[in-house]
Amino acid sequence: MNSFKKPKAHSNLSSNNYSMEKEPSALQFGTNVFNESELRQYLNKEAFSKITEAIISGSKIDRILADQIAAAMKNWALSKGATHYTHWFQPLTGATAEKHDAFFDRADTGEPILKFDGDQLVQQEPDASSFPNGGIRNTFEARGYTAWDPSSPAFVYGSTLCIPTIFVSYTGEALDFKTPLLKSIHALDKAATSVCRYFDKNTTRVMATLGWEQEYFLIDKDRAASRPDLILTGRTLMGHESSKGQQLDDHYFGSIPTRVLGFMQELEHECWLLGIPVKTRHNEVAPSQFELAPIYEEANLAVDHNSLLMDIMNRVADKHHFMVLLHEKPFAGINGSGKHNNWSLATNTGVNLLSPGKTPMSNLQFLTFFTSTIAAVLEHEELLRAAIASAGNDHRLGANEAPPAIISVFIGQQLSKVLDDLENVSKGKLSPQEKTDLKLNVVGKIPEILLDNTDRNRTSPFAFTGNKFEFRAVGSNANCAKPMTVLNAMVAERLNQFKIETDALIEKKGMKKDDAIFNVLRDQIKGIKSILFEGDGYSGEWEKLSKKRGLSNNRTTPEALPAFVSKKSITLFESLEILNERELEARYHVDLEEYVMKLQIEARTLGDISRNHIIPTGIRYQNTLIENVKGLKEIYGKDYQKHAKEQMAIIERISQHIAAINTGVNAMIKARKKANILEDIHQKATAYCKQVFPFFHEIRYQCDKLELIVDASIWPLAKYRQLLFMQ
Ligand code: ADP
Ligand code: MG
Repeated sequence: MNSFKKPKAHSNLSSNNYSMEKEPSALQFGTNVFNESELRQYLNKEAFSKITEAIISGSKIDRILADQIAAAMKNWALSKGATHYTHWFQPLTGATAEKHDAFFDRADTGEPILKFDGDQLVQQEPDASSFPNGGIRNTFEARGYTAWDPSSPAFVYGSTLCIPTIFVSYTGEALDFKTPLLKSIHALDKAATSVCRYFDKNTTRVMATLGWEQEYFLIDKDRAASRPDLILTGRTLMGHESSKGQQLDDHYFGSIPTRVLGFMQELEHECWLLGIPVKTRHNEVAPSQFELAPIYEEANLAVDHNSLLMDIMNRVADKHHFMVLLHEKPFAGINGSGKHNNWSLATNTGVNLLSPGKTPMSNLQFLTFFTSTIAAVLEHEELLRAAIASAGNDHRLGANEAPPAIISVFIGQQLSKVLDDLENVSKGKLSPQEKTDLKLNVVGKIPEILLDNTDRNRTSPFAFTGNKFEFRAVGSNANCAKPMTVLNAMVAERLNQFKIETDALIEKKGMKKDDAIFNVLRDQIKGIKSILFEGDGYSGEWEKLSKKRGLSNNRTTPEALPAFVSKKSITLFESLEILNERELEARYHVDLEEYVMKLQIEARTLGDISRNHIIPTGIRYQNTLIENVKGLKEIYGKDYQKHAKEQMAIIERISQHIAAINTGVNAMIKARKKANILEDIHQKATAYCKQVFPFFHEIRYQCDKLELIVDASIWPLAKYRQLLFMQ
């Protein structure tokens, strides 16, 4: 019998020993963050204004200022009980990385001192030659540097001062997610600001904003421990569906189980201390599935916060004797997990550019950014798909349960109607009558019509939801930086184009500004129709229709990734100085390699479980049945067949399943060996996808059938019902 330890009672084991009684948790928001008010307190006036300026404009921070900030940071961190510091970065492994150094040092005289100055703050050289680099760093240049990102504040986590940094090679190429993200944010700021200035000269800065919604599963740790697949791959490679799954929808938004609530409360507290503005928590559709969402933030900070959150989730779950599953598809037969990326643009004047305004002019501005985003998605739909490709996410996209692998944009009926009206605007200069009519009856009405724009299409991968776009196809385990970098870059490119076209009409055709904008908008709207789709994204009709429209449908990661290194993508990233061809090639390589390794590990784990757990269990139960048949023969003599018929049939079926499992595993190993010798990484990934992966289903099917027959008390893996329904 599986003996599971009783879950431990929830205890507040926070690294900071907080007491909820003393002060409401949420009021301790940002306590462990070295943010603006700490800067103000620990720095003199001049230093404070210099650093604030540097954060906003991205200007250089000189050595003297760096020393001042380092001293301030150190004193603040020591007051929070920190003993160590680390450069905290996001290498291409997808996890966050840190190497702790103690403040402790020895002075020349041998005295113990606490040392941390500008040098340590600004740059470090972690011995990081094992991080994926896609061939960028040869051994002679194996050094990688981390460099301080002052736009994301340092924080104390546990007893360590964490300094958000970028990670680049000795020769300057990006080796992390953050470097290109920051560059894309900058490119978008430049492009969007110049377009905004058509509408409002007070706009000097535009920020990308991101609000992620993180889905996850929470499973009892002891139960998970019985499953090598969950431990090694983060998902179940087998397991018969539970009789009850999510059919009743009784989990969705239901009351949160007490033990889970304990986890959530501590998680939220930790988040608040670290300045992560988490706000919403609820049960998701699948049993044991939950969601957490913050208030949106500037995109760079939001990305850091999501990466940090995933780390905190694991630690807090552990304390509560849970295992948190961030995999996109941990269980067959029920929903997988995503990470919706809500994205918008905010100006320094406090305007959300994707929210309709009060005046016709501000609505024209809204339409400009709204349609430019859609045009960008159409132009680079394949790249956007590539940005969310991973072995885990392949189980969701195209599997008829999550956004499909075909990228389309949902905008709702009302806005579709507005676009239709604008498309019919006459070419060239507009008559005063036409302009007034447009401004009053089309553009001017947008806020009203959007008020009741409540139709939400859950099957759309990229949906407009009133004041932001929601990119729903991002995987739950992904680093948001990648899709956000791509989105920022492509919208920046489109806005630059919008500016060029509008200026040309003003300068060369002598049009008035609003005439020119209406003209460019009209053409832009005409061009975006093929990416707009309001229907059921999971349907077969859409698959056919989208093909006719020329949209891509890259179902798997090896099919999707080449878009990263297409001519079009290289031009996009190079022209905006976000990533060069070499860096893109390297990333493409890293992604393919990760895909191959993930499938390799899954294949090995599946082989091991099948042979070392499932087949022996089948044989054990078969032996019990054989004993039983032998006993019946002893009692009934020749007549035994009448009593042993069912047992004999089961014995037979067990043999069949065992044989099929064994054959499947052998064939899978053979396919793997063939794939492993392929030199070309894309060919290798394709071989894993097309030749190895299909055996997963076959082997699993046989194991799951066996699970239905074998005595539950000797089944070695926790069953779906135990994992999903017993907290
Ligand atoms: P839902 O998508 O479930 O309707 P909401 O619309 O309230 O939920 O918001 C979902 C997420 O979108 C939240 O994380 C929220 O912070 C984020 N969000 C709201 N406005 C913006 C914005 N302007 N930019 C980016 N994210 C936003
Ligand atoms: Mg949402």
